[in-house]
Amino acid sequence: MSQQATEQVHGHYIGGEWTDGDGATFESENPATGETLATFRRGTGADVDAALEVAESAFPAWRNLSYIDRAEYLWDIYHELRDRHEELGEVVTKECGKEISEGKADVTEAWHMVEWAAGNARHPHGDVVPSEVAGKDSYMRRKPRGVVGCITPWNFPVAIPFWHMAIALVEGNTVVWKPAEQTPWCGQIIAEMFEDAGIPDGVFNMVQGFGDAGAAITDDERVDTVLFTGSAEVGHEIGDKVGGEPGKLAACEMGGKNGIVITEEADMDTAVHAAIMSSFKTTGQRCVSSERLIVHEDVYDEFKARFVDVAEAVAVGDPLAADTFMGPAIEADHVEKIREYNDLAREEGADVLVDRFELEDSEIPDGHEGGHWVGPFVYEIDYEPDLRCLNEECFGPHVALLEYSGDVERAVEIHNATPYGLAGAIISEDYRQLNYFRDHAEVGLAYANLPCIGAEVQLPFGGVKKSGNGYPSAREAIEAVTERTAWTMNNADEIE
Ligand code: NAD
Repeated sequence: MSQQATEQVHGHYIGGEWTDGDGATFESENPATGETLATFRRGTGADVDAALEVAESAFPAWRNLSYIDRAEYLWDIYHELRDRHEELGEVVTKECGKEISEGKADVTEAWHMVEWAAGNARHPHGDVVPSEVAGKDSYMRRKPRGVVGCITPWNFPVAIPFWHMAIALVEGNTVVWKPAEQTPWCGQIIAEMFEDAGIPDGVFNMVQGFGDAGAAITDDERVDTVLFTGSAEVGHEIGDKVGGEPGKLAACEMGGKNGIVITEEADMDTAVHAAIMSSFKTTGQRCVSSERLIVHEDVYDEFKARFVDVAEAVAVGDPLAADTFMGPAIEADHVEKIREYNDLAREEGADVLVDRFELEDSEIPDGHEGGHWVGPFVYEIDYEPDLRCLNEECFGPHVALLEYSGDVERAVEIHNATPYGLAGAIISEDYRQLNYFRDHAEVGLAYANLPCIGAEVQLPFGGVKKSGNGYPSAREAIEAVTERTAWTMNNADEIE
């Protein structure tokens, strides 16, 4: 499928074949215009059943290939991702509304992961462990778990699927993947890349569709590991279901209610830059986006004035235009969800500082009147730990300023007072404050003097508390897709 939308109805990729299945059709929409991009088949239980059957059959031969041979297929995909960077980046932007540099960065993240996973095939796996007994060799070997079901969200429609699948495949598992229903076009292109790479039939399978197709994957006993990234609501449902089944494993990565601590020792340029990037990039629709800015009283007024000025000026518009900072929200329902959280903040006592939720007509680019437009919403509120607006993920350009007094311990206490624990940042020139944050912030991802965004595949990526159980992505995914065997062999003449 090229970058141009077509009239064709696109199906699923199962066992090396493109199939239509028996489901209805659904459309992919450009959130910046509201126009239809392409039409796809909606996966059913029967499609998932067919995909799992071939994935299970393909597993023994795939696991028996060497790591290096399995990695060869991924190297082909690595080159294809690089060769089609511009084109695929544009499809990401058209389908999920991220501004174009972010669309392309999504593809870059994907090839970083493929590079890491395929390169890993030439790294040592497992541990040699000294035995308690002379004459015995003992070591730990990793083995693939079998069929891995991958369920991914729309907001990183190329990077996150590869964060799940690249490691799973190199380690010798077969995969059944369901892309997000908002980004099936990205799913189609990724499946074409696997087809072009000639990966053996049944090793990689893609079923398009909605949550019911996802549930058909997670609920099936042939699936050994579920890797999920998405909302806490769905992730916890999957974790509860799958976690209760013996021998089956679910690694889930969910949302956050991330915060940035700006202390009295902060450099203000760094603080404003970090807060703007973290609150409004990707229209606030990153799992690591920050919705709480926790600012010391000594610098509060200065920070507030500067942050509000920039939030008033942030360029919202056509995500394909080079000077756009923020594109649209993903879909009409999501605009309503953001509106509800803005209203909730008001009901809970917010003093609204910037309200660009409803854009002016003049701000909406020509030809984009059908887009799902929202702008920054900034408020200050007296801190109380139980306010819903400070505890629930809005997943939009919606951010609270919270003033604190006292030391960094107090700031971190406020920072930690949410059920989530994905990401957090601190802005300070005092190394003791930075170290305190590093050691006490209840998050999986912590940043110092940086925006609260960013990921590198060779680092773990995931959260604590309500934000995650297990790491389905990046380096740590290896734990979720392999089993370990502790092997002990007697070399002595007699058994001791
Ligand atoms: P979502 O949970 O609605 O959907 C994610 C995927 O799950 C989709 O493919 C969907 O079809 C599928 N799904 C829905 N119901 C299901 C069910 N019952 N069983 C199995 N699969 C089901 O999330 P979304 O709207 O696509 O993404 C936004 C959310 O993802 C936000 O909460 C965001 O914070 C989170 N997110 C987290 C990370 C991270 O790494 N922690 C990264 C990106 C996004």
